Amino acid sequence: MLPNEHSVERYGQGEPGTVEATEGGDCEPHGQAHGSEMESCEQYHKDLWEALREQDLHVYELLTCEYERFCNTIQLIAAENQCSRAVLGALGSVVQNKTTEGFVGARYHGGCGVVDDIEALAISRAKDAFGAKYANVQPHSGTAANQIVCTALLEKGERILSLGMDQGGHVSHGGRVSYSGKFFEVEHYHVDRETFLLDYEAVRRQALSFRPKLLICGATAYSRTIDFKRFREIADEAGAYLMADVSHIAGLIIAGAHPSPVGHAHFVTTSTYKPGGPRGGLILMGSDADTRVRAGKREITLSELIQKTTFPGVQGTPYLNNIAAKAVFFKETLSDEYRARQFRIIENAQELAGKLGELGYDVLTGGTDNHMVLVNVANLREGLTGLIAQKALEECGIVINMNRLPYDPKSPRVTSGMRLGTPIVTKLGMGRGEMEEIVLLTDAVLRGVKVLGDSDYELERGLKDRVRENVRGLCSRFPMR
Ligand SMILES: *Cc1c(COP(=O)(O)O)cnc(C)c1O
Repeated sequence: MLPNEHSVERYGQGEPGTVEATEGGDCEPHGQAHGSEMESCEQYHKDLWEALREQDLHVYELLTCEYERFCNTIQLIAAENQCSRAVLGALGSVVQNKTTEGFVGARYHGGCGVVDDIEALAISRAKDAFGAKYANVQPHSGTAANQIVCTALLEKGERILSLGMDQGGHVSHGGRVSYSGKFFEVEHYHVDRETFLLDYEAVRRQALSFRPKLLICGATAYSRTIDFKRFREIADEAGAYLMADVSHIAGLIIAGAHPSPVGHAHFVTTSTYKPGGPRGGLILMGSDADTRVRAGKREITLSELIQKTTFPGVQGTPYLNNIAAKAVFFKETLSDEYRARQFRIIENAQELAGKLGELGYDVLTGGTDNHMVLVNVANLREGLTGLIAQKALEECGIVINMNRLPYDPKSPRVTSGMRLGTPIVTKLGMGRGEMEEIVLLTDAVLRGVKVLGDSDYELERGLKDRVRENVRGLCSRFPMR
């Protein structure tokens, strides 16, 4: 066998995912330099920003601008969060330089003792955080995690049933412009036309007639609790696998602020930055990790199938610095601070929804059970679009995103909706009073903006300056920590 012909068998031996981590492993850092010439590890990493400024002032300045943008504006994008400095430290560390393939205990390169310990620790902590039996910390993103599961289960042309993009679903769930829509046969289910809620009975009927091999639940714009148990019953009745993509609500799930799909769905996928970790993805399994399936001539477990589809099936070398950062993040999620914060994120979103409702805004479903609020801005004022709301608010220092709403008559580039999310403002320490301030500032902009077309508008100088000043004041009271 040639070295590059990666044999699945070779990587199948390590029983990945079952390796128990020992904190620290064999590595015993001294915290000190060995020789007089050598910098200590800490010194080496401490000088990173100096090195960047000296070598590349242009990028240094761009990063500085981004830091200042973050500090001086209010971040309300529901898909964003703010990781800790400890996570940033792991991301920007020497582990970035280690290359390997395969999994803990079954690698293709030498020198993997330390990174094996790091990945095993990340796996063990991910399992603890979610109460899962199996965790795979290698996916480069949430999209990659979904691609791995789809590729593991489906042959070309086999069927996926998922929530439509225009209904709050994610593009990697079978969107026509994504690999998932290109290689598989996809049908979408919808939310109810009146209530905008998932109609489980309609999903069931569709699943029984379409007979997908994979049913996907989870959304990118849905503000109500998702009943994963019900989805599994539907999948079982239709003879399908169930994948729950919980990217947006993963933090809430860890804290018990939203019911967990682990134990219901065969596969749970998530991005790791949305709950507040480093960029990357994660695949989890409950008891179905040990379910046996045919793979060619052999029988393997579903978790083994996910392993070999991750590598060499879909990805190459893992990003070990991101995996180290995931380990740091999963430890954080076990803290009381993290868990309590997830409940405050929901309280803040409910406060936003409530105050917007009082001011006459059309909040979809009348409120929220999670971290996001969806608002129909077209119903506020004649001609107002999501695009204008996003642009006008950004000029005033309030960063949100336009969002297509279910059954939206406007195009995806204009939309009738806006989506607000509370993970970052909550991380910064803001509470109910600040949510009210944010609503009042938002309202001043959306009522004050002069609409000239779907994307054109005028904003009075005085209004803009006044809102910006208030935003700066608010931000300065809640600096990034
Ligand atoms: C954000 C999101 C993803 C994509 O994650 P990336 O890491 O950005 O690829 C997938 N699914 C859902 C439901 C999401 O919200």
